[in-house]
Amino acid sequence: SIEISGVNKRFGDFVALDDVSVSIPSGRLTALLGPSGGGKSTLLRIIAGLETADSGSVEIEGVDATKLPPQKRNVGFVFQHYAAFKHLSVRRNVSFGLEIRKRPKDEIRSRVDELLALVHLEQFADRLPSQLSGGQRQRMALARALAVQPTVLLLDEPFGALDAKVRKELRDWLRRLHDEVHVTTVFVTHDQEEALEVSDEIVVINEGRVEQIGSPDDLYDRPANDFVMRFLGPVT
Ligand code: ATP
Ligand code: MG
Repeated sequence: SIEISGVNKRFGDFVALDDVSVSIPSGRLTALLGPSGGGKSTLLRIIAGLETADSGSVEIEGVDATKLPPQKRNVGFVFQHYAAFKHLSVRRNVSFGLEIRKRPKDEIRSRVDELLALVHLEQFADRLPSQLSGGQRQRMALARALAVQPTVLLLDEPFGALDAKVRKELRDWLRRLHDEVHVTTVFVTHDQEEALEVSDEIVVINEGRVEQIGSPDDLYDRPANDFVMRFLGPVT
């Protein structure tokens, strides 16, 4: 699990996270859901180690990660506007993390073949990222994040920039991928329907506080407060 305890984060006088404690279960697909500006990305970045909390602690699968730099946390991440290496092929983009870890060439080749099959990009291995569609690029980003076998996968609105149809395809595909790989995954979304349809668990965050954590059914049937009820309410 990911254990977040008493995390506070300010930007100047602004309180972005206010004493956040939450336990995110292992092997599940968990959504961080809430309105814009609520603190979702800040919390994800603190889990990744890209941002430091003012106080509190983060434990990732039994390891105290509070003081560890991102590269020692064993996390993979994908952001909304994914930066690929433009001059490297899809294959090299996916293998990059393994190459810098100096893994044997044979191992890299077979691992990357597996990953490209997993994200259905086998035929595109030799293309450049600029020759892929937006959805294909996001799938490449996921393969790249998974390449180094992270213990947790963190996705910040990975499909946010895509049109509704592709977004829905990728969302269903993420669900199937997760059912195959079972890596602890946390993904940020401000889309209620997306969170309710795809995730095992939902953490609702608003104005820097956790309003509720539970399964989609829990939240829908037993909202903890008016905010959660109103926020999930308009879903049809
Ligand atoms: P969105 O859905 O719009 O991405 P979010 O829930 O991810 O929103 P955050 O990005 O975590 O929200 O931001 C939470 C609050 O902290 C916002 O009010 C934002 O303006 C503020 N904030 C985030 N990063 C910084 C920063 N580096 N400096 C100052 N304020 C920041
Ligand atoms: Mg955000």
